[in-house]
Amino acid sequence: MRAIGIDLGGHKIAAALVEDGRIVQRLTEPTPGREPDDVTAQVAKMARTLGAGPKCPVGVGIPGMLDTLRETALLLPNFSGWNNLPVRKILSAKIGLPVEIENDANCHALGEGWGGAAAGMTDYVLFTLGTGIGGGIVINGRILRGFHGMAGEPGHLAVGAGEPCGCGSHGHLEGISGADALERNAESMGLQPDLKYLWTRRSDPSVAPLWDRALDHLAKGIASTVHLLDPQAVILGGGLSRGEGFLDVLRPRVIDYLASPFKKILDLRLSLLGNDAAVIGAAALTRK
Ligand SMILES: [Zn+2]
Repeated sequence: MRAIGIDLGGHKIAAALVEDGRIVQRLTEPTPGREPDDVTAQVAKMARTLGAGPKCPVGVGIPGMLDTLRETALLLPNFSGWNNLPVRKILSAKIGLPVEIENDANCHALGEGWGGAAAGMTDYVLFTLGTGIGGGIVINGRILRGFHGMAGEPGHLAVGAGEPCGCGSHGHLEGISGADALERNAESMGLQPDLKYLWTRRSDPSVAPLWDRALDHLAKGIASTVHLLDPQAVILGGGLSRGEGFLDVLRPRVIDYLASPFKKILDLRLSLLGNDAAVIGAAALTRK
């Protein structure tokens, strides 16, 4: 099956022609500002360049919260003028065929299921460990959207106490174990906020408490998710997960928090698609 996946980002728009879960052609363009007209015109142009048509449908990953029916943008942090914009209708009109849209982290999760770490799985959860912590939940082969369309936000699992979170609340995983929070914590400990370097020095007594706290809360979040959903696997993506030996360090901590029947069956694995997951997942939106 051929389809086009497009990942709309604040700085760039990535698009790809995807065949059976593999990218066969790709295009990347800078995002032309924030004006809905300009940005959607650029997305449409890229879709046409890659051959969009009745036999080559288009899916688009949108960086923010969408309504339950996946028609309208509710809250896009990097595209403030887009709130309540009927994105699906606008893109469909400009491209000239019905387009599917979905939250970008959900696209990442779908991509791993089509051609990545969760290939062939029907039930899995993705945690993306980047600047913030995002993710997606796939149950029975479909993205779990929730009643209001907002399900699948592991970054806002309340595993902490008073730590501020970018969402306006506190005690959330992202505000403790996200890269932004880690960099802030490193600075407050008198360390250079270079997480790649600090990961290589994780055994150093001056650095260890930084990671100990972040990994402990992440392990609690993952263990709670496993208890709640009983997934086949938990997939980890994002920059932090690529630290050498990351899974080996994290796995025993997660197991420590699991109820005994779950300890032996925990399947914790790394994203295979990295930055390609979102475009492949956006293309996967068109699979019926
Ligand atoms: Zn939060």
